[in-house]
Amino acid sequence: MWLDLREIIEMPGRSADFSCTLSTELLDFPSVVRFLSEPEAKGTVLNTAGVLTLTGAIDAKMLCVCDRCGREFETEKHVVLDVPLAADMEDDEDPDIFPLDGDGIELDEVLETCFILDMDAKFLCREDCKGLCHTCGKDLNEGECSCGKQVDPRLAVLGQLLDIED
Ligand SMILES: [Zn+2]
Ligand SMILES: [Zn+2]
Repeated sequence: MWLDLREIIEMPGRSADFSCTLSTELLDFPSVVRFLSEPEAKGTVLNTAGVLTLTGAIDAKMLCVCDRCGREFETEKHVVLDVPLAADMEDDEDPDIFPLDGDGIELDEVLETCFILDMDAKFLCREDCKGLCHTCGKDLNEGECSCGKQVDPRLAVLGQLLDIED
């Protein structure tokens, strides 16, 4: 969505609201099975003493795969937006500042970038997901497997040494 900023660009104190949905086409993450609804973005661009800042939030609902146990789970994502926009980019190497495109801004690019940058590195069905046993593959959230009961070979050696001393 194109946001026209002509009305606020030279007018400190003025703001422009926006509200739109994000296309999920470019939001491709290995742990996301699918989006349960299109991410919704809402916010405002405010001119504070000549400096433009975009604030707001993106809300999304997704079906994900747990990185530890492989189970599918639903999760909601809330991305807080607080991005400076610049009319004249002196240093266009700064990735934290988004350049204006003439007297407006293409919101999709800004919002997609913010969403991607905020994406969790890990997707867990729950904070303390126990994952799968490396040996038998059992889901340890459902209970312990018998692999853990086998004695560690290093402890077995220690046991033998103790036996000798006896
Ligand atoms: Zn899990
Ligand atoms: Zn096991």
